[in-house]
Amino acid sequence: AKEEGRNRFSYFSPAMQERAMLRVQLGKDLRAALAERQLSLHFQPIPSLGSGSIHKAEALLRWTHPQRGPVPPAEFIPVAEELGLIDAIGAWVFRQAVATVARWRDMQPAGATDEVQITVNASPRQFATGTSLEVLLDELDRRQLPGSCIALEITEGLLLDERPTVTAQLARLSAAGIQTSLDDFGTGYSAMAYLKRMDIHTLKIDRSFIRDLTTDPSDLAITEAIIAMAHKLGLEVVAEGVETEAQRDCLIAAHCDYGQGYLFARPMPEDAFLELIACQPA
Ligand code: C2E
Ligand code: CA
Ligand code: CA
Ligand code: CA
Repeated sequence: AKEEGRNRFSYFSPAMQERAMLRVQLGKDLRAALAERQLSLHFQPIPSLGSGSIHKAEALLRWTHPQRGPVPPAEFIPVAEELGLIDAIGAWVFRQAVATVARWRDMQPAGATDEVQITVNASPRQFATGTSLEVLLDELDRRQLPGSCIALEITEGLLLDERPTVTAQLARLSAAGIQTSLDDFGTGYSAMAYLKRMDIHTLKIDRSFIRDLTTDPSDLAITEAIIAMAHKLGLEVVAEGVETEAQRDCLIAAHCDYGQGYLFARPMPEDAFLELIACQPA
């Protein structure tokens, strides 16, 4: 009981204190990272499952810390959000992604009909302020690119946010031809009423349903149901985290439109990505 009493009054355990300090340090380092070019974008192809052709890729942020080496985005993005750095980082990501999609378009054979598209992750906070979205629209405009060459990956939480600023930003993007993909689909609230209300173009089925697709009948049932529902609503479907041929075959049988995962390619630097694209059979 004495032990319990003591714990109740020490709000921070040494482990918590250490974690808090690491976060503060990470935040400081992150500010420097943007200025000192430690950030880069990697690109992961999202092939069409029917034809295998690649006209879509996701941009994924990478940070190489001068001492710690690569820091995973799952670790530093939440810190960037907390410290209000996500707008500056998001704007940087948008500029880079637009530059890459411009290069990709330039590589397309003359008369090619398929539009190419890079999808970019956007945090809910970026919709509250809108400054990075402004940069995205300006950048597309400056390069005279159609909005359709960028799509934003958003999460369900954003769609449940009914503040007028969020709705207005989504409407503005939509008017500019920028599509939205609903990321990590199936893991959130799944109220799904927003699918009717909002202008969503693509559902990305979360990796957690794909992992045991070929062995767990309920994962298969959920995946098939999501695909069927999406198609009835006129939405396209991407399966995340496809690692095996068996998973791919299962997804093809379920009429899934696109796949993304290590089976096809890992996220890679821009040079490698553009080289891979250049080697694609016409
Ligand atoms: P996400 O948007 O769900 O991105 C997919 C994650 O799955 C990526 O992790 C990717 O590398 C990984 N992945 C792809 N294929 C496979 C596979 O076959 N198997 C497995 N096990 N994993 C696979 P990553 O790059 O570490 O990114 C983690 C998360 O960080 C992203 O999850 C996204 O939420 C966030 N993030 C990344 N870049 C950005 C960014 O520019 N802005 C924002 N706001 N968030 C970002
Ligand atoms: Ca994503
Ligand atoms: Ca995802
Ligand atoms: Ca995920």
